[in-house]
Amino acid sequence: MAPLWPLLLGLVLAAAGPGVVVFLADDLGYGDLGCFGHPSSRTPNLDRLAAAGRRFSDFYSAASVCSPSRAALLTGRYPTRSGVYPGVFYPGSRGGLPLNETTIAELLKQQGYVTAMLGKWHLGYGPNGTYLPIHQGFDEFLGVPYSHDMGPCQNLTCFPPDTKCYGMCEQGVVLLPLVKNNKIIQQPVDFPTLTPLYNRFARDFILRAAKQRKPFFLYYASHHTHYPQFASVDFTGKSNRGPLGDALMEFDGSVGVIMKALQDAGVENNTLVFITSDNGPELMRRSRGGNAGLLKCGKATTYEGGMREPAVAYWPGRITPGVTHELASTLDILPTIASLSGAKLPRVKLDGYDLSDVLFNNGKSKQKTMFYYPVGTSKKLGVFAVRYEQYKAHYFTEGSTLSDSTPDHDCNWNALLTFHDPPLLFDLEADPSENYPLSSSDIPNYSWIIEQIRKEKVKFESGMVFGESQIERGVDPALEPCINPGCSPRPGCCRQT
Ligand code: MG
Repeated sequence: MAPLWPLLLGLVLAAAGPGVVVFLADDLGYGDLGCFGHPSSRTPNLDRLAAAGRRFSDFYSAASVCSPSRAALLTGRYPTRSGVYPGVFYPGSRGGLPLNETTIAELLKQQGYVTAMLGKWHLGYGPNGTYLPIHQGFDEFLGVPYSHDMGPCQNLTCFPPDTKCYGMCEQGVVLLPLVKNNKIIQQPVDFPTLTPLYNRFARDFILRAAKQRKPFFLYYASHHTHYPQFASVDFTGKSNRGPLGDALMEFDGSVGVIMKALQDAGVENNTLVFITSDNGPELMRRSRGGNAGLLKCGKATTYEGGMREPAVAYWPGRITPGVTHELASTLDILPTIASLSGAKLPRVKLDGYDLSDVLFNNGKSKQKTMFYYPVGTSKKLGVFAVRYEQYKAHYFTEGSTLSDSTPDHDCNWNALLTFHDPPLLFDLEADPSENYPLSSSDIPNYSWIIEQIRKEKVKFESGMVFGESQIERGVDPALEPCINPGCSPRPGCCRQT
């Protein structure tokens, strides 16, 4: 007879709310995964989850760069509301995701969840680590407070045994710190051992939660596949796609480790696993950056390649396998998790919807629009583009250095800010690559669509209350994380001895 305890444990946990694991890749493009059509990526774990779960064709991140995108994911709100604009946080940033914003972790704490975060935070460090995840609803944190290229990396090892990181990364700031809860435990981080450390932590966290019969939330924000690429010994030289392929394989390997932990803990059938990426690929890194597939441009642009992301939801027994073409975004993750756990929604303006119907019933998404703000978000210019159902109107377009070096000149740094009146209109179903702007001679209802999108834009923007910019609070080098507080001369002395 099969042992009863996994079943009983499942029942106890079901009463307490399901486990939730959110994997967020970094700068991973729409075309980077095997299950999204990349011919040489090796992502067997992700491909398996995509085949047995729900794969999204029209899933968006709410911003085209890291900090605002992560703010949106954790709060269910456009980052303009929380003040995470323009651009991103730096090591010495004074600001962070405001502590009065309600994160997914904070919602779940109210439901008795244990919560942990791994990897890249990028929502502020601040004085004495004021803005770290442990102050935003996470019981535990092991990771790096910002992007792993935001510290000099030219002498660090990215691939064992001693392959130095490719490029220079950010100069004139402290070496990259690894933080546990609010304590710096390594500076600089050791790239080749970083992911195995995270994986062990994640496995322990899941097994511990299951043993204590606690519902759990794990937010695993991988550094992969952001520049500079790195990997541990198990993945170095193992892909057919070079350094980025190795890094991606290591991300896929983490997914495999955590799925195994869920199985070993007997909670796989009571856990929602969601995987997506924060923004499009950094095309300026050429083959060391990601790939947006058939989408136009990449990171830091409001073209599809900047914000449409691969996404997969997996929950055996609950989610039936298949592909959904429903419009959905990272803004929907908080409302969905709130619904699954029975948590009350925060009493603030939310921009997402509960996706339960899309996930469990093959139903329709309530999300009909997507608003695209640029990296340099300002009240003055507002949204650059609007998707309404299958149509997308660009009111402004602009290239970016981060999407430079592709043959498409619209993506490049010298594609300057351009206002479009009437807006450039695309049918994303007929033309997902945004190659062929429509005119009144192409479709009979052209004027109606333009007017409909204009109304959606006016309605949305009239209800947008911009939070005070946290990024414009500026930087103070004294706030950069340092393992030797009070040492001098900084930043060089901030190094483990
Ligand atoms: Mg990113």
